Amino acid sequence: MSICENCRNPMSNSQYLLPAELKAANGIKFAHMECCSAEELKQSLFSQAQHQIRFYQDVIELVNNASLDKIKNIEMKYGTYDEVSQGIHTDRELMASALIFELKKKMGSS
Ligand SMILES: [Zn+2]
Repeated sequence: MSICENCRNPMSNSQYLLPAELKAANGIKFAHMECCSAEELKQSLFSQAQHQIRFYQDVIELVNNASLDKIKNIEMKYGTYDEVSQGIHTDRELMASALIFELKKKMGSS
């Protein structure tokens, strides 16, 4: 993740805080957004959108039938609030993960 797959320069050379995530034969590759073609940018946006839809479907399911088990599943799949706020799992919603974190505390203590 530290080297751009398109230009081979360090990821930190980008003006953006995040790399584009591109599907590759062996998983996901990371590239500077500046180095991506329009097609690659669209592909990255598309998978980002799909990710978010899945995430919010899980959130809706959690809201409809909240349990500590479901919260644990969401945290394992998408990261905990701490991970999100520290920039690990950077594509996750900070606000949603904070709400889930707080919900867990409320449910755990009741
Ligand atoms: Zn690059």
